[in-house]
Amino acid sequence: MEEHDIIIVGAGPAGLTAGIYVGREGLNATILEKGVTGGNANMAPLVANFPGFKSITGAKFLKRIAEQAEMYIDLHEHEEITKIHKTDDRILLTTNKGEYSAKALIICSGTTYRKLGIKGEDEFIGKGISFCSICDGMFFKGKDVFVVGGGNSAAEHALHLKDIGCNVKIVHRRDELRAQKYLQDRIHAEGIPIIWNSVLTEMKGETFLKSVVIHNRETEVDEEVEVAGVFLAVGEEPNSKLATVIGVDVDELGYIITDKNQRTNIPHVYAAGDVTGGVQQLVVACGEGAVAAVNAYQSLKIHKN
Ligand code: NAP
Repeated sequence: MEEHDIIIVGAGPAGLTAGIYVGREGLNATILEKGVTGGNANMAPLVANFPGFKSITGAKFLKRIAEQAEMYIDLHEHEEITKIHKTDDRILLTTNKGEYSAKALIICSGTTYRKLGIKGEDEFIGKGISFCSICDGMFFKGKDVFVVGGGNSAAEHALHLKDIGCNVKIVHRRDELRAQKYLQDRIHAEGIPIIWNSVLTEMKGETFLKSVVIHNRETEVDEEVEVAGVFLAVGEEPNSKLATVIGVDVDELGYIITDKNQRTNIPHVYAAGDVTGGVQQLVVACGEGAVAAVNAYQSLKIHKN
């Protein structure tokens, strides 16, 4: 079993920033990431609201943070925690690759993209349905695609898809977007059509997606429309199951509850970033990661004395 002062769960913006802070304090710490470094933020087509960066892709931005983090802390990709247990003074973790114990845990496990839960959806994920316009957009150049959702992610995906030459339309269940105004203004300026008050009810195809059924919630009319790709941007769900196993409190939507020092209700267990809900922005995730790291570090120092 590897013994550490602090283990950070997740290598997105919050986890990597926490890693920079605890690593620079000289603590024996590790970041465990079940997938690849960067997390969902890798999929952001454009980051334009992180102070100091006028315009950078999510993947490039996260790569920079990761390079900085790895100057100070070990980072294990593709290492998923399968078991967690809390004793009086340590947290014990089993992963697909080993066993760890830590005096403190910083949970930065982020969120998972929500699905629509409709017929045909699971069948065509990766075969016409995508969550990432940066990763998959080029496959649909010159083709008809839909973006589903009305938030910032939907707006950013639609703008990126338009930019790379897709014939993109947004399908939104209400009659107004919830995306920030500067994104809405760009959607209008680019002339991206929006199919209002409508939801997808079925995905159809053979090997690949060929068409979708759109239900207009006002007129109650269903229409089958041919489309090569559908980009889903209908929100996220917190990856907080692990935390609840050791008794961490979550809110009614499953987001981890923390105080202003990013402490959870369990001693020496902290959480930061999107898994805590609230304002889900890169700058906030990084800020919360720093706050969690400093408080975790200080609590261990106090503990030693
Ligand atoms: P979001 O803000 O939760 O928006 C999800 C959208 O999907 C909403 O418009 C929602 O409709 C719609 N929706 C949800 N469930 C649906 C369903 N079953 N069928 C059809 N439509 C459905 O999610 P997000 O855009 O992924 O953003 C997540 C968080 O990251 C937000 O806090 C966002 O501000 C942040 N973010 C920020 C930036 C940025 O600052 N540039 C970029 C990306 C994400 P309703 O509007 O009717 O609820």
